[in-house]
Amino acid sequence: MRSEVEVLEFERETRLVLVNNCRRCDGSDAYCECHKRCNLLVRLYEAGVPREFWEVIPENIRSFAGYRERVLPYMGRLKRALRSGYGLCFTGRPGSGKTMLLSAVLRRAVERGRTTCYLRASELEKHIRDGWKEPAIARRLDWLLTSDFVALDDLGTEQYPQYVDELLKNRGSELSPTLLGTRLGLSELGQRYSDSTMSVLSGRYAILALQTRDGRVNEHKTMDKAMGYVGGTPQGKGRRVK
Ligand SMILES: [Zn+2]
Repeated sequence: MRSEVEVLEFERETRLVLVNNCRRCDGSDAYCECHKRCNLLVRLYEAGVPREFWEVIPENIRSFAGYRERVLPYMGRLKRALRSGYGLCFTGRPGSGKTMLLSAVLRRAVERGRTTCYLRASELEKHIRDGWKEPAIARRLDWLLTSDFVALDDLGTEQYPQYVDELLKNRGSELSPTLLGTRLGLSELGQRYSDSTMSVLSGRYAILALQTRDGRVNEHKTMDKAMGYVGGTPQGKGRRVK
C-alpha cells in the first residue's frame, strides 16, 4: 500500500522524466500524450499494481481459456460491472496468469478514469492490523478499499479469512466490483469463506479456472531473446553453440 507521500514523490519524479523532458511539448501542452502517460503511471503506482504488469494491454495477452469469452467482454463493459457490482475470480496455480489478468483489468479501468486498488490478501490483513495502532494507515486503507475496482490477489494466503469475508460483504452490499485471484479451487473456497461470500461469488462473479501454462516459459523466452541467450537451458536439449 502506497502512502500519499510516496505517491506524490513518484508523481514528481515521473513528471520530471516524462513531461518536463517531453520532446514534443516540453510539458507546455496539457493535451500532449506525455500528461496522459504520466497520469496512467501515477495511478497504477498509487493502486499498487505490480510494476511487471503495468504494460500488459489486451493486444499483448496471448490466448487464455476464457480470456476472449470473459475477460475481454468484462474490460469492455466496466461501467456496467461498476453499476451492478459484477466481479471476476481467477483461480489457478502460481504462474497461471492470475496477477497478470487482474493487472490488465485494473489498467483498463485506470485508462477509463476509474479508481483502482491492488492488494494481496495477506497484505490486506497486515494493513488492517497495523491500522488498529495507526489511524493514518486505517484511513488510507479505507480510502483505497472504496476504489471503483479492487483486486484482491492470493486469496487464501491470509491467516484469518474473516478479513476477506468482511471486505467482500462490504463491497458486495455497495455493489462495488471486486476482482479475485486465488490458487484455491471452488470447494476449497467454500470451506474457507462464509456462505454469504460464496453466495455473492456464485451470483455476481464470472469464475475462470486458468490452466497452469507457459506464462513463465513465455517470459523466459522473452528474456532469452532480449539477452541474446542461445540454446535451451543448460541441462535441456538446447542447440549447440558453434
Ligand atoms: Zn508532451
